[in-house]
Amino acid sequence: MDNTNMNKLWLNEFSELNPFVIAGPCSAETESQVIEIANALKNTNVNVMRAGIWKPRTRPGSFEGVGAIGLKWLQKAKEVTGLKTAVEVASPHHVKLALEYNVDILWIGARTTVNPFLVQDLADALKNTDKVVLVKNPVNPDLALWIGAIERFLDAGVTKIGAVHRGFSTYEKIKYRNNPQWQIPINFQAKFPNLPLILDPSHISGNRDLIFELSQTALDLNYDGLMIETHNNPDNAWSDAAQQITPESLQNVLSHLQIRRSKGETEGYKKELLKLRANIDILDEQLIDIIAKRMLIADKIGGVKKEYNVAILQSERWQAILKKMMQQGLENHLTEDFILSLFNAIHQESIHHQNEIING
Ligand code: PEP
Ligand code: MN
Repeated sequence: MDNTNMNKLWLNEFSELNPFVIAGPCSAETESQVIEIANALKNTNVNVMRAGIWKPRTRPGSFEGVGAIGLKWLQKAKEVTGLKTAVEVASPHHVKLALEYNVDILWIGARTTVNPFLVQDLADALKNTDKVVLVKNPVNPDLALWIGAIERFLDAGVTKIGAVHRGFSTYEKIKYRNNPQWQIPINFQAKFPNLPLILDPSHISGNRDLIFELSQTALDLNYDGLMIETHNNPDNAWSDAAQQITPESLQNVLSHLQIRRSKGETEGYKKELLKLRANIDILDEQLIDIIAKRMLIADKIGGVKKEYNVAILQSERWQAILKKMMQQGLENHLTEDFILSLFNAIHQESIHHQNEIING
């Protein structure tokens, strides 16, 4: 892939400040709501006002957006406050209207990124545009699909592109509405180091209490910006009420974030170290998650052994696991000693779990 068209320069058009911030309601609801939020955002570190005009909803019957009239309200918000504007587009018709109303940033939603036909239609509609196009990750954890969508816009001659990480849908019940799966955007950054990456903590969390910690993790991982849903009356928002925050809370979040800048060698070193440590912390959390899942299976095995009255320790099986893991360890440059102590510890814990089930 030719990466020469990718750069972060377009960010400077919006602000020299770090991070770049897009904020505004999940949905434009009324003209007065849009103008009230815009006026409140004017006094914060926000660079761009967002508002959903056409809303992709999971179930029919939910509020599906005010439609094109919302573009007029956003245009007025821009006139009144000087804030640039951003909307989601999901069809060439949306693109046409958004361009007519001089929206500054068009973003592709997660439910659109999954569909290469739609993405191609949008790329064709935006051919050679000098507007900024942001591509949200697809709802499913598929890095290639995300990359493919970016490539379609690059191929269409769009030069101001960015990616938005909004998490991945999951059937499992977790503390987030959408699982961040940080390793996916980390791999994305490794592939496209010059493409601005923005976090959408609102759609990841689904819960306003988690906005700050997610935003801080993003800055620690060297993201370039944030997109945060902000509403004048979050609890009564017509969509995504639980995750929206007021402009005042937004300013509070922004003012408490530790912003990592690179200044000189020592700063650069610290910044690199922070990023790597944030990666390590995420992987360590995943290690615990995986081990806990393994123990749940050990519990089930304990249940089966109990039912059939079979001994916990099955030496042959254990030797086979160890042999296989030693081999895999070697292939991954991990020492035999390490694999041995790691798996002995895991085996011990597993026996403990089974013992609890059988005799506990
Ligand atoms: C949104 O930003 O309001 C939205 C619908 O986001 P996503 O495409 O990430 O679900
Ligand atoms: Mn939303």
